[in-house]
Amino acid sequence: MPELPEVEVTRRALAPAVEGAVVRSLVLRDRRLRWPVPAGLARQLAGRKVLRLERRGKYLLWRFEHGTLISHLGMSGSWRMHPGTAPPPGRHDHVDLTVEQADGMWVLRLTDPRRFGALLWQRGGEQELRRSSLLARLGLEPFDPRFDGAFLHQRTRGRRTSIKQALLAGDIVVGVGNIYASESLFEAGIDPRTAAGRLSLPRCARLAQAIGTVLARAIDAGGSSLRDFVGADGRSGYFTLAARVYERNGLACLRCGAASVRRIVQSGRATYFCPHCQRR
Ligand SMILES: [Zn+2]
Repeated sequence: MPELPEVEVTRRALAPAVEGAVVRSLVLRDRRLRWPVPAGLARQLAGRKVLRLERRGKYLLWRFEHGTLISHLGMSGSWRMHPGTAPPPGRHDHVDLTVEQADGMWVLRLTDPRRFGALLWQRGGEQELRRSSLLARLGLEPFDPRFDGAFLHQRTRGRRTSIKQALLAGDIVVGVGNIYASESLFEAGIDPRTAAGRLSLPRCARLAQAIGTVLARAIDAGGSSLRDFVGADGRSGYFTLAARVYERNGLACLRCGAASVRRIVQSGRATYFCPHCQRR
């Protein structure tokens, strides 16, 4: 399942073809994604210039002067770019967006076997976008300078849920999915079962920093896959982080070497941690 790092790597891969390009056509082969793709979308976009390709959480934001095309990869979606024309579509290639860039035409193709992805339109500018139901309740970006220990400390006060659950909820900080929650808490030396509201300020600071480090490392790891986005080589564009704790249950902890990594289940999701290095 694509997480924030995959979406950011997708953004970086697509941006050179997309930013400043003019939409020539939008072909919708199947509108039945997680929500129906708006019927008038092709007309809405034709002849319009993509100003910027941005990301908010796991949403890709194709910014136009008159609105924003919001796309989400869901469980299994991916974007690929083809110079000139695209090969004949396969059964999961639901959308082709053709744009004219200074260097020629590009076809951006959305493939999504499980169709949990989304392609929606939000008219208006920054304000309408920020208030849109999809984005309004999202927490801070992990790389936002405002996301620091003090912020995390303040926003977790009174929360009796575990710190892992608090991170996954996404209303404090976005992008900390199941893998990255385990990795960040390992990095910060915090037991994932610790009540969020009981974390001290210094530990919140360590955790905020760990989240940034872990996500930046994952994005860097995916950066080597940028050229995989051109053409259809069958690869999904998802990459695996060299996890330090995730799915290493039973193996020796990479930090202390003494204890072995434990796997527990919190709210139905697996969590991995070192009982020696990570404290409540
Ligand atoms: Zn350890």
